[in-house]
Amino acid sequence: MSVTNATLRAGTVAADACDLAPGYIRAIAPYQPGKPIAELARELNLDPDRIIKLASNENPLGVSPLAMQAMQQALAGIALYPDGNGFDLKQAIVRRFGVAMPQIALGNGSNDVLDMAARAFLAPGVEAIYAQHAFAIYAIETQTIGATGVEVPAKDFGHDLDAMLAAVTAQTRMVFIANPNNPTGTLLRANALLGFLRALPSHIIVVLDEAYNEYLPEDLKSDSIGWLEQFPNLVVTRTFSKAYGLAGLRVGYALGHERVIDLMNRVRQPFNVNSISLAAAAAALFDHEFVCRSSELNAAGMRQLVRGLETLGLSYIPSFGNFVSFKVGDAAKVFQQLLKRGVIVRPIAGYGMPGYLRVSTGLESEIARFLEALKAALAE
Ligand SMILES: *Cc1c(COP(=O)(O)O)cnc(C)c1O
Repeated sequence: MSVTNATLRAGTVAADACDLAPGYIRAIAPYQPGKPIAELARELNLDPDRIIKLASNENPLGVSPLAMQAMQQALAGIALYPDGNGFDLKQAIVRRFGVAMPQIALGNGSNDVLDMAARAFLAPGVEAIYAQHAFAIYAIETQTIGATGVEVPAKDFGHDLDAMLAAVTAQTRMVFIANPNNPTGTLLRANALLGFLRALPSHIIVVLDEAYNEYLPEDLKSDSIGWLEQFPNLVVTRTFSKAYGLAGLRVGYALGHERVIDLMNRVRQPFNVNSISLAAAAAALFDHEFVCRSSELNAAGMRQLVRGLETLGLSYIPSFGNFVSFKVGDAAKVFQQLLKRGVIVRPIAGYGMPGYLRVSTGLESEIARFLEALKAALAE
């Protein structure tokens, strides 16, 4: 039988192919992103300018001005492929953090470097450990490879490092740790992490995801980059999506031992970071003023948020990120009520927290509007 457009439309051929896709791929629960403003505007016929999105931990200050300037200059060059090795951005990272060029892998967002780590070190039959309520990408990456994900129960919503250590088997090849974690906002202290790294067999890669590092007060930041010398199995990942305000560009990086990074770079798409992003990130890295303002605004926003939640009598998980998860009971309903009022937050049922919503810090006026909408939603 020949394949006609009609059979394709009927879906029979595609259905056969899909049935033959690996079971571990078919079992993936897709990542649920925050709802875009334009989508909500379309669905509920709302004015997009009246919608606020506090759903994806984006930077309410917008883009670093130095990055904006660099992007405008880079626009003239986009007919050419980007520098596949990202020399200028890597040089900026070298200057900023004192690592060597071969210790850096660049990614299309830090999700991309997490993907590279998984593809370089995991395979069917081996195990990756991550915590309950940890960032969803760890499970998705593990499953994409066909490796076995080992989810370790959380302790007070945070990573239980002792239990994660106890979960190590002969098959363990990787441990994912988010610090602070999203969506719980919990933080592991440097001493706890160091103890874990010392106790873990050195052939197991530890991916330490520090997407929110720039929001931490100095005394709570781990010297994770300094630890690289001591722990060749450690991979530290950072992103430009949060405090640097470049989520839409997709840039992140991993720092690690050069042999580890070399393997990650082998599975990398040749031009995974585009030229606009490379230029913007290199400039943003030295926009200390912008990062400082972002983290100060976040601290003030966090105080405003938790005060508001307390006033409403809601419990929340104390957070070290630019977001906070709070308990509302019927979260799906409250989420919908907030949407009707033009406020987008994030349901986190997919993280095993069905009674919770996560809200990002915003501008003072946005947080005020969110709290007002939440009060009204709860009264419905
Ligand atoms: C937001 C976030 C990231 C960043 O992802 P990008 O791909 O860099 O945008 C990474 N890890 C965690 C835990 C996050 O919350």
